[in-house]
Amino acid sequence: MCYQVVERYSVCRCLYYKHAIDPCAAHGQRGHVVQEKTVLVGYACSSHSSHRPEAAYGAGVLPDSGYGSDAYAAQR
Ligand SMILES: [Zn+2]
Ligand SMILES: [Zn+2]
Repeated sequence: MCYQVVERYSVCRCLYYKHAIDPCAAHGQRGHVVQEKTVLVGYACSSHSSHRPEAAYGAGVLPDSGYGSDAYAAQR
């Protein structure tokens, strides 16, 4: 049985890295299958990360002042 190691993010199960197939003696025969071995890596990918970059982004843009709402309305 051939093995192919597939690394996935343990949080969102997105593909992290697909290794090359490790072929056995029966590789290429009819009905022969490649066994996938999933290895989980201990974090999420950038698009499913639990970190919230938008929170840090918003904190820098909006000042915590009393008249922020007036300036915001004037832009519309
Ligand atoms: Zn094989
Ligand atoms: Zn993901």
